[in-house]
Amino acid sequence: GAMADQERRFRDSVGDLAAGPTEPRRTAHRPPAGPRFTNTTDSDPALPETRAWAADAVATTPPALTSRMLGSAAEVDDVVATGRDAQPVWAARPGRERAAVLRRAADELEARRGALVTVMAAEGGKTVAEADPEVSEAIDFARYYADRAEELDGRGLLTDGAVFTPPVLTLVTPPWNFPVAIPTGGVLAALAAGSAVVIKPAHPVPGCTETAMAALHAAGVPGDVLQVVRTDEREVGRALVSHEGVDTVILTGAAETAEMFASWRTGRPGGPRVLGETSGKNSLVITPAADYDLAVADLVRSAFGHAGQKCSAASLVILVGSAGRSERLHRQLVDAVTSLRVGWPTDLGTTMGPVIEPPTGKLHRAQTTLDAGESWLVEPRSLDDTGRLWSPGLKDGVAAGSFFHQTECFGPVLGIMRVETLAEAVELQNATAYGLTGGLHSLDETEIEYWLDHVEVGNAYVNRHITGAIVQRQPFGGWKASAMGPGAKAGGPNYVAELGTWAPDGVPT
Ligand code: GLU
Repeated sequence: GAMADQERRFRDSVGDLAAGPTEPRRTAHRPPAGPRFTNTTDSDPALPETRAWAADAVATTPPALTSRMLGSAAEVDDVVATGRDAQPVWAARPGRERAAVLRRAADELEARRGALVTVMAAEGGKTVAEADPEVSEAIDFARYYADRAEELDGRGLLTDGAVFTPPVLTLVTPPWNFPVAIPTGGVLAALAAGSAVVIKPAHPVPGCTETAMAALHAAGVPGDVLQVVRTDEREVGRALVSHEGVDTVILTGAAETAEMFASWRTGRPGGPRVLGETSGKNSLVITPAADYDLAVADLVRSAFGHAGQKCSAASLVILVGSAGRSERLHRQLVDAVTSLRVGWPTDLGTTMGPVIEPPTGKLHRAQTTLDAGESWLVEPRSLDDTGRLWSPGLKDGVAAGSFFHQTECFGPVLGIMRVETLAEAVELQNATAYGLTGGLHSLDETEIEYWLDHVEVGNAYVNRHITGAIVQRQPFGGWKASAMGPGAKAGGPNYVAELGTWAPDGVPT
């Protein structure tokens, strides 16, 4: 009958949540793209007024901070108690009311676009051209998760009478590289689910996150439902992450951090409950059947956007067969890399900004050391005495199993590997601990199909750059050491629903 029909349509469109995630672990993304969400305009600031304003306003001075500084474990107890006390009232509001607050949050974020761009430039060194679409992504999350909050109202009853219970308190610990979109996305998802939230901004960029959270508060999220805290003490951070009143931790950061958080939480009721988006070692394959012009443009954007400081960034290109011997491809790539204009965000002509701090460790090694078989096509140089401005590096001859093949270095260095067949290329792509993003440039359908069947990455991009996942269109999340937890993808249909637990009606959770 009509009811069954409606139910089937609903299930088809949203999936059967009681049965767990319905998204395949690997999702394929090919142009062209749908119209609704906007996080693609990274060539130019979206709004002319942003550009005009940014020209004199891109700041060098971060704002004064307003979030609560925690100095002791007792203060952590207080924050957790406040959140847990506030949650029932928030969770009791119907999904459509929470959705309305989230949609207002989208508008409040839009109203603060300029301020958000400024503070990202000042604190994180993000260029205006990249900070602007990041604001768009945060707005997309707000509208998308608002829809999911509404959906939750009807969802449980349709899935065999399963009932959804949100986490009471979610802790969000975002990274510094996307200091607006990622924290805002995590917080909005938890709020959509009906959870109270504590967010601890990443250390070098607290003002970005505070500015974004101010938009959410202005939209009507109560201060006790969403608390923003900082701490300088590792022990206080640990007390927060491992607190038994925190049900779920949403972490985006290094794989080692996720492991550490999980170890701090073992023995907690309900297990670790750490939802992590973690590291990646991502590559883009170019075959002789590629359009080299497009491939080079997408590669350079994937490798050097935000100076390579994205977990989605391409740090390897794998050239197949005659692509590896093509003079033209070689010249185009060197030209494109040396044409990047390195500078500070205050110069709107900058196409590659600074790194977050003077490189040490893995990144410094990648910039200054050649391993067996390697040579520089473009050698990186430190450009000023801040230690943060580095010219891009292009390293040829990266060998299978080497340091640079295996290690995420998180900076502006791209390595070249060469193989004879696509099968060998995919093997190299898969032969790392991670599985976050990957790309193929080829116009050959047989190659595309083969690649999509074999590559072990969460976001598999065909004939597109491999960064800048778009909400709804490209739900974002990985495999293997690139993910921790149940595995729903951020900006995808199941993320909000997977934050909570599902049980048949009448069974206590
Ligand atoms: N979502 C971002 C992208 O698709 C990457 C996020 C990250 O680096 O943590 O590029």
